[in-house]
Amino acid sequence: MRELNETIDGTIKVLEDMKRTGVTHVEVSNKTIEELGKPVALVPRTIGTTATIAGDPAAELAAVEARAKACVKCAELSRCRHSVVFGAGSSHAEIMFVGEAPGHDEDLQGMPFVGRSGDLLTKIIAAMGYVREDVYIANVIKCRPPENRTPLPDEATNCLPYLLSQIELIQPKVLVALGATAVRALLDVQLGITKMRGHWYTFRGIPIMPTFHPAYLLRNPPAKKEVWEDMKAVLEKLGREVPKAK
Ligand code: URA
Repeated sequence: MRELNETIDGTIKVLEDMKRTGVTHVEVSNKTIEELGKPVALVPRTIGTTATIAGDPAAELAAVEARAKACVKCAELSRCRHSVVFGAGSSHAEIMFVGEAPGHDEDLQGMPFVGRSGDLLTKIIAAMGYVREDVYIANVIKCRPPENRTPLPDEATNCLPYLLSQIELIQPKVLVALGATAVRALLDVQLGITKMRGHWYTFRGIPIMPTFHPAYLLRNPPAKKEVWEDMKAVLEKLGREVPKAK
């Protein structure tokens, strides 16, 4: 796996150097594009065990990230992006937050949830008694949709294997789906987020709590109360005390 990582890293570096010197196109066959789009094959593990596949889940995540960074499955998104925003946080996180897609700030910094929505998510995480490095934060879509439009169904389908690999490798004890796009990607339930939030569902054996997206909270601050109720349910599921409000 290390050799594969080194090969992918090397390829990315060469392509980035070419881009910097003004090269805008490279000849790539359809077959290669198809291969690049495939997720790294993972050996299924039992959720809840601490066994790893081929060693360190962080290294496995890095391999999947390298593949995502070379992904060109969505022509428009891969053409417009500055970064592939893969995810951030602990590879041993007990909570994984899943958002929709990177926005402007995330695209520029290559990190999820670093804009205004991100500041609010960071506050929610802090109120729960964690710091961002304790949890894992990812999105359904790894590249910014132009003008922050809602991701297209095909884009979600193309990108989902990366999120599935992240979940499989991290094996969080709880997933938090932030908003409708995350809920739709992970759950086959035809209800709106308002009806689903506050109720537990299961994704491949992992409890998942749908809640409102931080961007919605910025537009509707009173809904923060409901999100806090949902986060208290998450803490309770994890057997953790709810920190006293500061
Ligand atoms: N909104 C998201 O869904 N994800 C981000 O990373 C930032 C904003």
